Amino acid sequence: MRARSIEDLQKAIVFAREKNIPYFILGGGSNTLVPDEGFLGLVIKIEHTGLEVVDKDGYTQVIISAGEVWDEFVSKMVDFGFCGLENLSSVPGTVGGAIVQNIGAYGVEMGDCVAWVEVFNTETMTIEKFSQKECSFGYRESIFKKKNALVVVRVAFELTCSKSPRIEYEEVKSSLREKENFTPTLLDVRNAIISIRAAKLPAIHIGTAGSFFKNPIISDDRCYEIKKKFPDIKKYPLPENKTKLSAAWLIENVGGFKGIRRGDAGVYDKHALILVNYGNASAKDILSLASEMKDVIKRKTGIVLEEEVVMMQ
Ligand SMILES: Cc1cc2nc3c(=O)[nH]c(=O)nc-3n(C[C@H](O)[C@H](O)[C@H](O)COP(=O)(O)OP(=O)(O)OC[C@H]3O[C@@H](n4cnc5c(N)ncnc54)[C@H](O)[C@@H]3O)c2cc1C
Repeated sequence: MRARSIEDLQKAIVFAREKNIPYFILGGGSNTLVPDEGFLGLVIKIEHTGLEVVDKDGYTQVIISAGEVWDEFVSKMVDFGFCGLENLSSVPGTVGGAIVQNIGAYGVEMGDCVAWVEVFNTETMTIEKFSQKECSFGYRESIFKKKNALVVVRVAFELTCSKSPRIEYEEVKSSLREKENFTPTLLDVRNAIISIRAAKLPAIHIGTAGSFFKNPIISDDRCYEIKKKFPDIKKYPLPENKTKLSAAWLIENVGGFKGIRRGDAGVYDKHALILVNYGNASAKDILSLASEMKDVIKRKTGIVLEEEVVMMQ
């Protein structure tokens, strides 16, 4: 069922309750794996749209509905000259999905720009507003991911015209450095990121099972031990004596999985975090490949990779 308004959403929940069937909230489906047997319940696809720009003192608040396509929204913000989201260009999915997963890329996490999130609480059947702090954003985490009763309906982003884009991420910096004597605009950064991503992510016609695993976060001490065995390991320092490891690096260099195929299920040859369906792979094939990858990485490093993809159930 398509929910194009809060009333549609309300009706869908009431319907599922009356029929005593489970429901699943779907955004763009880019990070969701559907089981081979399908879903015995009601899938509610969030499709409500709308955008409002409110001027505040020194910054702009942009209020956007959850069913909007994330990258179309980013493109509009870049056109308007609002800085903050350009590094998240080209991430597939909807605004609602982006909030739930707290998407991140090229040194930016979406949650940092959020002012508040409005949800429909399916337990109380009321609208509630969460401040940025109440959203409990973390690495690919939010309160909305933990509490299924909260359906994201609208989000306010705080964006500014005065800040410069963030280009400290090496790949972005070097892509922009190729052009001489210029200060990058928001559009330059967006275009650089679109081309970096296009070179390593599958084209739209290739089916994917999403960005499959999270980057593992471990203690600095544990990282020190692992580094003895894998001196080139790709890692990013975090606060509180923690280190984030690149799951893609582990899959490629420790597991040797990049580009491999098991029937029609495979690990994309240009990006080891993306599991792809080259034809008729079933969910079972994808999960079996993922499980093989997890086993090898665990055996060689002790690290248990955690799925970022959500199973529709
Ligand atoms: C090729 C590729 C590249 C990617 N690159 C990145 C990347 O660079 N960075 C990154 O962080 N992610 C990345 N992802 C992952 C994916 O794009 C994000 O997780 C995205 O936010 C998912 O949005 P969606 O609308 O498709 O969510 P869906 O897959 O539809 O849903 C994901 C989860 O969110 C829930 N959900 C969706 N909408 C709502 C709502 N309105 N209210 C409550 N719950 C909801 C669903 O129930 C489900 O649990 C990538 C995925 C692919 C396939």
